[in-house]
Amino acid sequence: MVDTLPVSFGYENIKRVIIPENELKARIAEVGKCISLEYSEKPLLLIAILKGSFIFLADLCREITVPCEVEFMRSSSYVGNSTVSTGNPKDIFGIDKDISKYHVLLVEDIVDTGKTLVRVTEQLKKLNPLSLKVCTLLDKPERREVDFSPDFALFIVPDVFVVGYGLDFDEKYRNLPYIAEVSL
Ligand code: 5GP
Ligand code: MG
Repeated sequence: MVDTLPVSFGYENIKRVIIPENELKARIAEVGKCISLEYSEKPLLLIAILKGSFIFLADLCREITVPCEVEFMRSSSYVGNSTVSTGNPKDIFGIDKDISKYHVLLVEDIVDTGKTLVRVTEQLKKLNPLSLKVCTLLDKPERREVDFSPDFALFIVPDVFVVGYGLDFDEKYRNLPYIAEVSL
């Protein structure tokens, strides 16, 4: 039973499931098909922003039926158990490829204020990819502080702090197979 709440020790803060596992799977399959159509015959590079997108990337890339390569980068503006961005971001590009030879699709867990993706896309554009688009699992448009719209947003979520399926609170809950709201 994956969509019921675990009652074991350490999961007391999980308030409710927002997106169950079967809905995640179905929507990712749908978007994987769109991406496959859009990038057929194009050299596709998926760049996942760690750590939050690691599970989404793993599932999404297996729904993509055209050849693609994968790279990872890190971007973090949270410290410890804070749920508010420090506004002092650190980006670490671990990409050892010439991205000017690729159509790049950035894979992100969630767009909140939009600041991370504005910053990261500006930096990546300087490396002249053939094209650059953004695919995010979750979008919280109510929280937007800068003008940014992802090209693919799989689910719109309300303005609550969510965890699971790669997303953490204080590094925990990434292993939940669904998206849930935590009570803080
Ligand atoms: P932004 O720069 O758009 O404000 O923040 C994006 C980052 O904030 C996301 O990649 C994610 O790491 C984090 N974030 C924003 N909202 C949430 C949330 O509800 N839950 C979790 N776990 N992380 C969030
Ligand atoms: Mg993130």
